[in-house]
Amino acid sequence: MGGNPKLKVRLDKIRENASRVVNLCKGAGIEAGGVTKGMCGNVSVARAMLEGGCAFLGDSRLKNIAILKREGLQTTFMLLRLPMASEMTDVVSYVDVSLISMPETIKLLDDTCMALGLNHDVIVMVDVGDLREGIWPVSAEIEEMARALKASRKVRCIGVGTNVGCFGGVLPSSANLGHLLEVGHELERSLGYELRVYSGGGTSSLALVEDNTMPSGINQLRIGEAILLGSDITGKRLISHLHQDTLRLVAEVIEVRRKPSVPIGTIGADAFGNVPQFNDRGMRLRAILAIGRQDVRPEGITPLDRGVYVLGASSDHLIVDVEEMDHKLTVGDTLEFEVNYGAMLAAATSPYVEVVMEER
Ligand SMILES: *Cc1c(COP(=O)(O)O)cnc(C)c1O
Repeated sequence: MGGNPKLKVRLDKIRENASRVVNLCKGAGIEAGGVTKGMCGNVSVARAMLEGGCAFLGDSRLKNIAILKREGLQTTFMLLRLPMASEMTDVVSYVDVSLISMPETIKLLDDTCMALGLNHDVIVMVDVGDLREGIWPVSAEIEEMARALKASRKVRCIGVGTNVGCFGGVLPSSANLGHLLEVGHELERSLGYELRVYSGGGTSSLALVEDNTMPSGINQLRIGEAILLGSDITGKRLISHLHQDTLRLVAEVIEVRRKPSVPIGTIGADAFGNVPQFNDRGMRLRAILAIGRQDVRPEGITPLDRGVYVLGASSDHLIVDVEEMDHKLTVGDTLEFEVNYGAMLAAATSPYVEVVMEER
């Protein structure tokens, strides 16, 4: 097929990001796993993370993990989204460690393990305030989980974990991660054995490692964004010691014409039901690129060329203002864009975007 739009991946930079994150964490006694879901479980990206030294791989989708296993990647696989009751057989078959928060799930995993003659490790998720997954950190809920774990024959609890900076945008801190440690210690007392893993979050938790405020006892992080993009969207920062030029989105020009900057006629709503707003800047040179909402999240892309401004997008068309570009675009030219996490996720998942590996 034609080859555009495409997402170019600099594997060498992703490998280097992984290695820098792994070494930073190692200095604080923390193991770092690589999270592949942002790139839809791409096999080459996953391999680069392992070559960079990641201790394990995590993904939120069972399908991605199954593909990585089938491709022969040798590592521990962690399922990052709480497992569904309808996928238990695949979970215990493909996944080494699941994150869980419900006693029912422990029972379902354990029954499935018994039926298939397998064992399974779990990490109990604790909600320290972000209001996504996890038990509420009160004794009744800790005890309830301990009871379900003690009753299970094949499911073993290896640790506790938390997720911050996702739904509620809550930043990790020594206070909320300290809370995770306390819950883990209480669970250890109820279970009567020590927990090996204290999993303290994702990319946003790296800031605590960098400024030496990570509570001692937290010994694992699950890192996606920092390795894939060198950024920390929750902490609103670029991570200066990592590469940001890991991914480039390429889209092709299919029209270049000078047009008014305000539509002519009565404005209804756009193709997505939003009423668009326009500033009158007179006649402007505009290009249409053959990429749209089926391929990417247009709000999350930034043109690399000076003088290019994204005006908007429909399902299949991206409109850019190119009046101030220093050379004239023609049909068949391409423009390149940086992507943020949401745009990467959409592009990597879209069947219309070709993912192309580069190595330098
Ligand atoms: C996505 C995810 C991660 C990785 O998050 P990043 O911010 O990309 O590092 C870690 N843990 C869980 C449970 C996740 O869902």
